[in-house]
Amino acid sequence: RHKEKWATTAPRIPSTRLALHHFDTSYSLHLGALWPSVRAGLLCEQKYGALLNNFAAADLVPQELELLSATDFISEASQKAQQWQRGAAAEMSPPLCTSISSKIKCYTFPRGDISRFRPARPDSLGLLDYYLMDAASLLPVLALNVQPGDFVLDLCAAPGGKTLALLQTGLCGHLAANDVSISRTKRLYEVLHSYVPKEVRDTVSVTSYDGRDWDRVKGDTFDKVLVDVPCTTDRHSAMEEHNNIFHKRRTKERQMLPMLQLELLMAGILATKPGAELVYSTCSLSPLQNECVVERALDIAEAQFNIRIHVEDLSHFRTLFQDTFSFFSDCRLGELVLPHLTANFGPMYFCKLRRM
Ligand code: SAM
Repeated sequence: RHKEKWATTAPRIPSTRLALHHFDTSYSLHLGALWPSVRAGLLCEQKYGALLNNFAAADLVPQELELLSATDFISEASQKAQQWQRGAAAEMSPPLCTSISSKIKCYTFPRGDISRFRPARPDSLGLLDYYLMDAASLLPVLALNVQPGDFVLDLCAAPGGKTLALLQTGLCGHLAANDVSISRTKRLYEVLHSYVPKEVRDTVSVTSYDGRDWDRVKGDTFDKVLVDVPCTTDRHSAMEEHNNIFHKRRTKERQMLPMLQLELLMAGILATKPGAELVYSTCSLSPLQNECVVERALDIAEAQFNIRIHVEDLSHFRTLFQDTFSFFSDCRLGELVLPHLTANFGPMYFCKLRRM
């Protein structure tokens, strides 16, 4: 009895502190000397990007943002790639140019500038002019490199930032946006209604399946698959008590994350057509949730399904986007954006796979 009373009155350790303790232990090993600066970034206000809504009548918005000295980091990168193509580094350029979809426009403030964007505004039809998101979240979408008419699956889609970016390409033949959470799927619907006209919304099918069962719904039918899995959302876990996965009550759920991520990635692989491509992404720095999940999936695909997977090289992303993001240079597979005080985006891990 005595023990029980003690248990209920003992001060609870904040989940954010548990998260930081966990990060200090594991990331100082993984990131070494970089960890203190990444940690400082995680604990400071994050930077946003303004993803322009091509469906809104908002012609003056680019001019307005440029007056504030924000720039579209994607068109800047593609201009840089074109210059390289003409110049000395021509041998590096083919992947540089082909990998960027110029229809996606996202404004960011320069390195070291911590200005904030005004809230989005509606046009005369009520469509909002931009969507504020972590600009690093666009990198997995750019890596997917959607081509005209592609059938695209966004397996864990809510609240819909990346779904919206996929639609901004104007290239999806069909987009399947799925998320197991009914409440988060509601937010996805809200995003679609606020940003996308009805005729484009009609090309999107929104579902709420458990993504792990996707192959029972539809097998290998997609040209492009995005698997943006649930993870320890490191920035959120270090800063917010609400809905924190480091809460003592959620220990089991947290420990099971790599297994859930692996199952979702496997379902994504099985959803791709032979020859088609997939991007796996998380907003965590954890190698257990990033590279280890990918490595394990490659083994299982080969051993259990006789599917060979090629890991695509994305190192040119580091060159292209180095002015906007801080990248970790030691990933074995995929790329990782590290938070940094002068470019406080991420974390964002992304890895591109091709089913052979
Ligand atoms: N892609 C989204 C975006 O850009 O706005 C963010 C996705 S969030 C990182 C991960 C999502 O996975 C959550 O919305 C969560 O509800 C969903 N999820 C968790 N378990 C799932 C499962 N078994 N099947 C499908 N979705 C799942």
